[in-house]
Amino acid sequence: MPTVHLNGQFLPLEEARVPVMDRGFLFGDGVYEVIPVYDRQPFRLEEHLSRLQDSLDGIRLANPHSVAEWTALIERIVRDAEWEDVGVYLQVTRGPGPRDHAFPREVRPTVFLMPLELPAPPAELVANGVAAITAEDIRWSRCDIKATALLANVLLRQLSVDAGCAETLLIRDGQLMEGSASSVFLVKDGVILAPPKTRLILPGITYDVALELAGREGLPYRVRPIAEAELRAADEIWITSSTKEILAVTRLDGQPVGDGRPGPLYRRMIALYQAYKHTVMRGNPAP
Ligand code: PMP
Repeated sequence: MPTVHLNGQFLPLEEARVPVMDRGFLFGDGVYEVIPVYDRQPFRLEEHLSRLQDSLDGIRLANPHSVAEWTALIERIVRDAEWEDVGVYLQVTRGPGPRDHAFPREVRPTVFLMPLELPAPPAELVANGVAAITAEDIRWSRCDIKATALLANVLLRQLSVDAGCAETLLIRDGQLMEGSASSVFLVKDGVILAPPKTRLILPGITYDVALELAGREGLPYRVRPIAEAELRAADEIWITSSTKEILAVTRLDGQPVGDGRPGPLYRRMIALYQAYKHTVMRGNPAP
């Protein structure tokens, strides 16, 4: 039974209880992070905690912990976890209060952390890619906030489950945004293309890693709006996230992407990503 953290206490998951009047339960009034940990070493911790701060600022909720306190909480979850590789899930809600949309007069945030098993993406998916579908982005206009209110993402992700696919790629006003739970990249004519970080997408930590690695290796890339037609004409499509790492999308809406195999730039990027991840796993400072 995993050890979790709830409001200052470490306890077995089954014993963790939140009042039904918690605004996280009633309104989805909270934010979260998932921090990948390899070989018990948190990956890009500073960046995840900085995005957490941005999400909290976005919902006008004071951060209940300093970076040092978060780090200590995360270290304890990692130490007690049964796996060497974990995703540390952490969530902060605006806590309990009367059922009123307006913020409670006195806010007592709920802080919850738990370990999630983090298996490496299956080698078969890395080698062969995954299928995806597209759908109209039905989310709100603050997708940069990593909000626990994920109903639209849940419905959008289920569309791809129902279609036997790994992800739903989201189109808003004719432009490619991201996946229901991932960032997205294209390759066209040897250039990596990434949608810009606006309020309409989540600023992905893996997105940043991929662009940093491209920059370091001199792989050409552009960050600019991407039209739906460009998505459909792409030579390669990738999805990225802390849990999926980088996967090639080799079928989109039932059609092959490029030649239907993960492309050369994907193979280059995933090798760079895995090498980078291993430097972190050995506890070395990032190169
Ligand atoms: N976009 C959305 C909507 C997501 O849920 C995720 C996964 N957290 C991502 C992008 C990828 O972000 P990251 O690389 O930080 O996991």
